[in-house]
Amino acid sequence: MESYSESQKQLARPYRKAVLRALLFITLVSGLLFFVLNTSRGNYPLAYVELGMALYSVFILWAIRRTAHLERWILAYALPFFTAMMFALLSPRATATVFAWVLLVPILSHLLMGRRLGLAVSLFFMLVAAIIFFAKNRHDPELMEVLPIANIAIMSMCILVFSHIYEITREQSESRLLKMAQTDPLTGLANRARLEDVFEREKRRSLRHGTPLSILLLDLDHFKKVNDDFGHEAGDMALRHVSDLLRRSLRATDLAARLGGEEFALILSDTTEEQSLAVAEKIRQAIAATPFHYYHSSITLTVSGGISEYQRDGDDLLTLLSHADRAMYHAKAQGRDRMEHASALRTRVSSLR
Ligand code: GH3
Ligand code: MG
Ligand code: MG
Repeated sequence: MESYSESQKQLARPYRKAVLRALLFITLVSGLLFFVLNTSRGNYPLAYVELGMALYSVFILWAIRRTAHLERWILAYALPFFTAMMFALLSPRATATVFAWVLLVPILSHLLMGRRLGLAVSLFFMLVAAIIFFAKNRHDPELMEVLPIANIAIMSMCILVFSHIYEITREQSESRLLKMAQTDPLTGLANRARLEDVFEREKRRSLRHGTPLSILLLDLDHFKKVNDDFGHEAGDMALRHVSDLLRRSLRATDLAARLGGEEFALILSDTTEEQSLAVAEKIRQAIAATPFHYYHSSITLTVSGGISEYQRDGDDLLTLLSHADRAMYHAKAQGRDRMEHASALRTRVSSLR
């Protein structure tokens, strides 16, 4: 579950939306301007393409106000925009300076579409532009010299490479910051923010495939005593020790998070009630059977836990955590070092009535 791409996509949205909006305003203004200029020069086909782009950008400005599909609108804008640019290059009346616009392609593609799609789109349109350039100017002796061609080629390559490198490093630092913001610094486990993120994703998956989803809440027993007897440093080491055990006992599709203090929450996806009890039991036994060593002392820890199940016990994380919490407190009351399922608690309550 170490993919941060969904959150990263969310993070990039406002930034890409701002770039797209600025671009749409520029297209609107310049589209109208070039419409007037081309009309006055009698270049009607190009004039109407410009007018069409201006009107289209008004439509997209309206469409992206609160869309959930920004990526689609970006493509719906950028692909016709770049195609219109190629159309402008093809126009027999367009001057050679129009080719300078092609330099915008790598910059905009990377800003709007990220490094992979951005690079693919850039390469495609830059190649088309190069073919048009050579086809159109093959008889122009001034342009068909090595020096002007090398100039244009190197400049285009520089802009492409710098845009690409910029986007790679931007995405990397974004993902590093995101990871930091979603990690508990003491144990390296996920924190509550990541737990909420992953729960939302697993909830959607569970609804789509009809698979069960459980939450396991764990709380170390008499942990205050570890701090009191051995000091806070030993307490911190104990928390790291337990985190390592949790990491080791989980499948790749599960997530373990530290909620705070000596409390942990686990998301167990595609796990039925019996299976989640078995996972909880395995974790309980592993912790009880693996004492941790602090200088010359061997300290045995135990843990109590409660399990709740998505849809049976609640539909949101907060409700599920509170049901698991109640089951966990029941486990504490029953003598600690044990696991309880929220549904078992309910059965007992109803049988008392
Ligand atoms: P119980 O079995 O009822 O859960 O008892 P407990 O002692 O574990 O519970 P209690 O909530 O009374 O105490 C939790 C203790 O956890 C209090 C605090 O000293 C310790 N603790 C919380 N966070 C940290 C931490 O980050 N580092 C260390 N070393 N100790 C912590
Ligand atoms: Mg506690
Ligand atoms: Mg405790």
